[in-house]
Amino acid sequence: MSFYQVERARQVDPARPAVRLGTTVLTYRDLDARVGRAAGWLSACGLRPGDVLALQLPRGLELVELHLGALALGAATLPLNEAYTPAEVAVYLEDSQAAHAVLLAETVAALGRGRSATGLRAALDAASPVRLPRSFPPETPALLLYTSGTTGQPKGAMLSQGNIAATLRALHVAWRWSRGDHLLHVLPLFHIHGLIVALHGALYAGATTTLMERFDPESALAMLEKDGCTLFMGVPTHYNRFLALPADRRFDLSAMRLFTSGSAPLPARVHRAFEARFGQVVLERYGMTEVGIVLSNPVEGPRKPGSVGRSVPGARLLIRDPETGQRVAPGAVGELFHAGPSVIGGYLGRPEASAAAIQDGWLRSGDLGFEDADGYIHLVGRGKDLVISGGLNVYPVEVEAVLLEHPEVAEVAVLGLPDDDFGERVVAAVVPVPGRLPDPADLLAFARQRLAPYKCPKDLRRVAELPRNAMGKVQKAALRAAWLGSPD
Ligand code: AMP
Repeated sequence: MSFYQVERARQVDPARPAVRLGTTVLTYRDLDARVGRAAGWLSACGLRPGDVLALQLPRGLELVELHLGALALGAATLPLNEAYTPAEVAVYLEDSQAAHAVLLAETVAALGRGRSATGLRAALDAASPVRLPRSFPPETPALLLYTSGTTGQPKGAMLSQGNIAATLRALHVAWRWSRGDHLLHVLPLFHIHGLIVALHGALYAGATTTLMERFDPESALAMLEKDGCTLFMGVPTHYNRFLALPADRRFDLSAMRLFTSGSAPLPARVHRAFEARFGQVVLERYGMTEVGIVLSNPVEGPRKPGSVGRSVPGARLLIRDPETGQRVAPGAVGELFHAGPSVIGGYLGRPEASAAAIQDGWLRSGDLGFEDADGYIHLVGRGKDLVISGGLNVYPVEVEAVLLEHPEVAEVAVLGLPDDDFGERVVAAVVPVPGRLPDPADLLAFARQRLAPYKCPKDLRRVAELPRNAMGKVQKAALRAAWLGSPD
């Protein structure tokens, strides 16, 4: 049995709804039967333990069934974004050497390989279940995820069954999951956040997941209210969208016990505004594809705005000087290094990149942060995003937080651009609050009142939106390129 089955067997009530989508409700008994048939279909297609199965499918039950069916056989899945072009899919298939692929019909047509998603439902329903192996060693490969690629060349992080089980166990305890929980699921299923933290988190607990077909803030809050959900996991964009709803829209969220945010920084202002409006204190947590979720604010105890909290059970953290590798003094900024059972062994087929990223079990995150007096971690930005202007370090998150305090600023991204004089100069792109057109000169004056001169943007532009990836992360490289390409 895979980690999913082992843990599920401990927790589950077979009659409890496991996954809901539209009008379909699958109990755990139904889901088990479907996973057995999906495993049967995959075996008949030739999938064997240790193989990689690429899945580019619409957000839906077939994707869930095939993913779980492959895990139950001891294979690994490679979930791919539906939005990828055939050329992009080809790169991942090539790099991963995936033995099998079930892909969108248009991708199959363009590449001339893989099985088409067309007719999949009927094929899975008609398949005969197979006897599933009883257990796998924890090092069995389970999930191949290409890291989000907001910086550098994407690399395939291979998560083992043991890595995933470690994340699930830690969060089960830290977030007090129970089978009484009901998650409204709005996240992509091709990323660790939506697939492991959210979907597998709920399956592990024997809880219910309602998959929302397409996120919109009004319907999501209405579903939380109507379905009596207890959990919502989002990225900061979701919280911004909730706050942008007209002020007279009210929802009864009294059944909710936890709103979480991660994958990108949740501005303290958004954290506070969400509490003021919806009466719920968002729990912010931090993770990476390569390490799972390793830092979290507590369920019981203070959830600090602007902090990602403390280590979850089993996770170990070191904050080191990126130059010397020495541990920094408490309160000082350094680079976060992670170790523990959820940390991957390496990147697929890239021994050099793996050796550079992981030394003695410690994974170098590239994230900069510090520990406060209560032991909570605060991130100040990616190492790559650090701006060094006139020899002084400017942490973009600090400047962004100041500009976000301005009532006419909805979103902001601060970055460094090459500068003959300073080496780099700080610039800011600002998305105004709808209906407002703040004067860039006023915003710069606002920043100057609150920040040391070397941290203040030298230039500030209003933009309609920030370039973000599917997980809501601002793509600073794209922003930088766009800025440099239009020098007005
Ligand atoms: P990914 O591998 O796509 O999950 O991206 C991991 C990166 O997302 C981390 O290295 C961080 O830079 C960023 N990240 C995740 N959670 C947070 C958070 N709560 N606040 C700020 N950045 C975050």
